[in-house]
Amino acid sequence: MTSIKEALEQIGELPAHMWIAGQRISGGLRDGIECRDPGSGELLSKLPAGTKEDIAEAVATAKAALKGPWADMLPKERGRLIWKIGEALHAEVDRFALVETLDSGKPLKDAKVSVQRAADYFIYYAGMVDKLEGTSIPLGINKVAYTEKVPVGVTGHIVPWNVPLSMVTRGIAPALTCGNTAVVKPAEDTPLAAVMLAELIEKVGLPVGVVNIVTGFGVEAGQALAEHPDVRHITFTGSVATGKKIMHAAAEHLASVTLELGGKSPHLILGDADLDRATPDIMAAVYKNAGQICSSGTRLIVAKEIHNELVDRLAEKSEAMKVGHGLDNPDMGPLISNKQLQTVVGFADRAKDRGIDFSCGGSLADVESNQGGYFFEPTIANNVDPDDELAQKEVFGPVLSVIPVASVDEAIDVANNTQYGLAAGIHTQDISAAMRFAKSVEAGQVYINGYHGSGDTVPFGGFRDSGIGREKGLAGLDAYSATRAVTITL
Ligand code: NAP
Ligand code: MG
Repeated sequence: MTSIKEALEQIGELPAHMWIAGQRISGGLRDGIECRDPGSGELLSKLPAGTKEDIAEAVATAKAALKGPWADMLPKERGRLIWKIGEALHAEVDRFALVETLDSGKPLKDAKVSVQRAADYFIYYAGMVDKLEGTSIPLGINKVAYTEKVPVGVTGHIVPWNVPLSMVTRGIAPALTCGNTAVVKPAEDTPLAAVMLAELIEKVGLPVGVVNIVTGFGVEAGQALAEHPDVRHITFTGSVATGKKIMHAAAEHLASVTLELGGKSPHLILGDADLDRATPDIMAAVYKNAGQICSSGTRLIVAKEIHNELVDRLAEKSEAMKVGHGLDNPDMGPLISNKQLQTVVGFADRAKDRGIDFSCGGSLADVESNQGGYFFEPTIANNVDPDDELAQKEVFGPVLSVIPVASVDEAIDVANNTQYGLAAGIHTQDISAAMRFAKSVEAGQVYINGYHGSGDTVPFGGFRDSGIGREKGLAGLDAYSATRAVTITL
């Protein structure tokens, strides 16, 4: 068990600056961001709140960096640099994980996996730099036509707080791979690791200005980034409401967007499911990162014949979970902020007022050692109506809504009965039922007999209000290149 003091000693100096054109820009007179540890409420660092002018400078720098050494580099050299970022980050997993735990609250073991994942994006994409091939198109004996993939230009990355570093790298790794430059606006709640990454990128030897990190608030820095006419693609992860604002802003200068928005993902458990396998999987699907994952499996759709047995098992195991400070490696850490905690409390209190039955949890979790942290109990709301707020809205906290159903058809109808379409899971021994579900559910990713866990190489994204475009895997490269077609008349 590491204390906060020990963790801070191991980390060294925490960033109190942002990173534009290879320069550390510190707070000065700016109205700064207060970066807090969600497990204790302690102030960790103050960072500058970037302004519209800071964004303009970062974008100008990123635009200038599109020419010069970054563009002139042989593809294999660019690939080698991108690989080196991944290696350098892998070498620093422990230090970055401590920062991610302090900044976002997640248990240290999960933070390590997140940082490894963040590094793996560079390793995965680095090898693609010299394989971004075009095509040739037959036009008869007197013409030659071919296509080539060219960078889209400056890319903007607006990132949420739930998986701070890996959300940055899953966007910038493919963007750099395709020869673009980047301006990143990390979440105000979790800016630290992104700034540390910039220093590491500089050490590895990327040309100045290729990656810029502007810390700041969404309403000012984020909005300015989305509105900037020289930003040709915006990659955004966060809420539906903000995603719509980003798309409106991008429309003004016809920039393309990748939007990874929310979810209310169904997890279907059929009567023949192996409950010993399904139980831990259901719990990980909803409680991982304290439920603050866009693809969390938050609606448990259960066959009536196993409903009571399964809910009893889940409630018993949920009550036994250890909730605590991320550095203590608990089963579940705190929520990101008091604001998010109050949002979750609001959902629970309103559900209680509507008479919804909680099989466990539903209140603030008392963590004796960390009274200042933002803890909520692992919570199961039972017999939730499919149209209830708890079955429709993204809580972004450790709250599972259980919906019993009488048939697979009813389950599929319930699964598709939200505005979202991000992820879906099913546990069954019946391959035909599993495949029928996979083909009928409106979700960008479907998990059969094991929720989450498809890593960094499988495409990820949503339908409907869950967003536009795909990240991860080879599909994650699509947004970052434009096709140029050249036709030669002989
Ligand atoms: P959010 O407002 O969508 O924030 C995501 C990012 O967008 C942050 O960097 C934010 O900056 C920035 N932003 C906010 N307003 C902006 C604007 N007008 N223009 C440009 N950028 C802007 O999400 P949130 O408030 O942090 O969380 C609210 C809800 O979003 C959660 O309860 C959850 O439902 C959902 N969410 C989803 C995901 C996901 O993975 N899909 C992740 C996080 C949250 P600030 O940091 O200053 O706000
Ligand atoms: Mg923080």
